[in-house]
Amino acid sequence: DLHPVRRALISVSDKTGLVDLAKALADRGVELLSTGGSAGMLRDAGLTVRDVADVTGFPEMMDGRVKTLHPAVHGGLLALRDKDDHVKAMQDHGIGAIDLLVVNLYPFEAALARGADYDEMIENIDIGGPAMIRAASKNHAFVNVVTDVEDYQPLLDELAANDGQTSYGFRQRLAQIAYARTAAYDSAVSTWMAGAIGEATPRRRAFAGTLAQTLRYGENPHQQAAFYLDGTNRPGVATAKQWQGKELSYNNINDTDAAFELVSEFRPEDGPACAIIKHANPCGVAVGATLAEAYRKAFDCDRTSAFGGIVALNQKLDRETAEEIVKIFTEVVIAPEADEDAIEVFAAKKNLRLLTTGGLADPSEDITTYRQVSGGFLVQGKDNGQVAPDALKVVTKIAPDEGQLADMRFAWKVAKHVKSNAIVYVKDGATVGVGAGQMSRVDSALIAAKKAERMAEVLGLPEPLTKGSVVASDAFFPFADGLMEAAGAGAAAVIQPGGSMRDDEVIAAADEAGLSMVFTGMRHFRH
Ligand code: 5GP
Repeated sequence: DLHPVRRALISVSDKTGLVDLAKALADRGVELLSTGGSAGMLRDAGLTVRDVADVTGFPEMMDGRVKTLHPAVHGGLLALRDKDDHVKAMQDHGIGAIDLLVVNLYPFEAALARGADYDEMIENIDIGGPAMIRAASKNHAFVNVVTDVEDYQPLLDELAANDGQTSYGFRQRLAQIAYARTAAYDSAVSTWMAGAIGEATPRRRAFAGTLAQTLRYGENPHQQAAFYLDGTNRPGVATAKQWQGKELSYNNINDTDAAFELVSEFRPEDGPACAIIKHANPCGVAVGATLAEAYRKAFDCDRTSAFGGIVALNQKLDRETAEEIVKIFTEVVIAPEADEDAIEVFAAKKNLRLLTTGGLADPSEDITTYRQVSGGFLVQGKDNGQVAPDALKVVTKIAPDEGQLADMRFAWKVAKHVKSNAIVYVKDGATVGVGAGQMSRVDSALIAAKKAERMAEVLGLPEPLTKGSVVASDAFFPFADGLMEAAGAGAAAVIQPGGSMRDDEVIAAADEAGLSMVFTGMRHFRH
């Protein structure tokens, strides 16, 4: 299954490593064909190259839209060398076999990243490149197709190991990589177009991504992992600048994303806010008069869990906050910006990763999200639901006071970012108990209250901060028991979607316990 490489067609936009590759091929006696820009570069390097235009008998035309789209090229890529009528067709029409195709495509993704306008994006859609790649890949029985600069050296190694030939297995792997490239390329085009024409529905959507980083491992050390960019350049973990610290891990990226998405619910006009995340759930969220105060309040929700956590801030990181943060071990800090003093404070903590995003995420943005299930993908719009202040409906005899209402709105934003079943106790703009991810709402209420009891001991408080708190539930209470658990922990006011069959029962229980309760009419499941 070894097959010699005698003739190569080279047509690349990214010319990295091109000359070295071509020289090595020429040294092996491989004949080189090439398109305009690539050919020019090779000639400048003193190599002998034949123009594709010479092979096709047509000049490159229409701004390069038509260069290689010709039977002399595609016949040379697609012909089966062991089939008589194919060989005869090559002879009859003067078509020479092409054994190696080296192509990388017009930089569509790079144009997207720099925010090119519509017409420029259109011009950056490569046509001849993908056509050749797909032809060469189909004919991997004979043809090698290299679409990534990273594969230049492996190709040369393969040729060296096999006396100028390549094995079938090698060509198969190249073809598989090549189809991944053209699939991702067209996905990027489709995803860009969906955004450009305002098509937000998650139907008929392709999945696009460019490899940003091969990760050391996945969620666990025995899992392989990589990080892909979707090319949308949104402020967040994917596009943040890392100032210091080790490379982010899979779990870091996931948790940092959760942290930054949560803290971005608090807009600049809401004042300084801080979220501390562990295992994608918040273990403390707070607003404060200053950023440092917000951090301290968030930290006091669950000091035990905050150790080794991810800290997200909604404002420029300042020295005072940085000095608070470095008091314990923290994995990652992410903020829109960081001032020089803060960066100086962090510099002493070599392992602490500092990321700046340039801005907050937009929680109301309509984005498509994906999750894999066995054998398929689930696609949905991001949970960008916001409850307007006047949409809150008081359902109990007692109405919440202004302070409680503010805490309710705060608790509601946090509950949206806690894995279901989510129960969040809040007092004075800070979470004081978070119950996450339990299979029963009662247990979430109970666990959050228990954690608050433990924190009261740690902080030396006479009673847990859940006493007199506000409690949020991400979905309705199906029975009164969850609500009663919260009331037992001292919650005085409740915010929840409502909509249960037994709402009447739940409201009656709230009235009897002397609670105020509001319905949002919207739930925030998060699994
Ligand atoms: P060069 O810099 O060599 O002039 O152009 C290389 C680029 O042209 C490569 O990215 C290749 O994919 C692309 N290309 C090759 N043939 C065609 C074609 O027929 N049409 C278009 N639109 N692009 C082509």
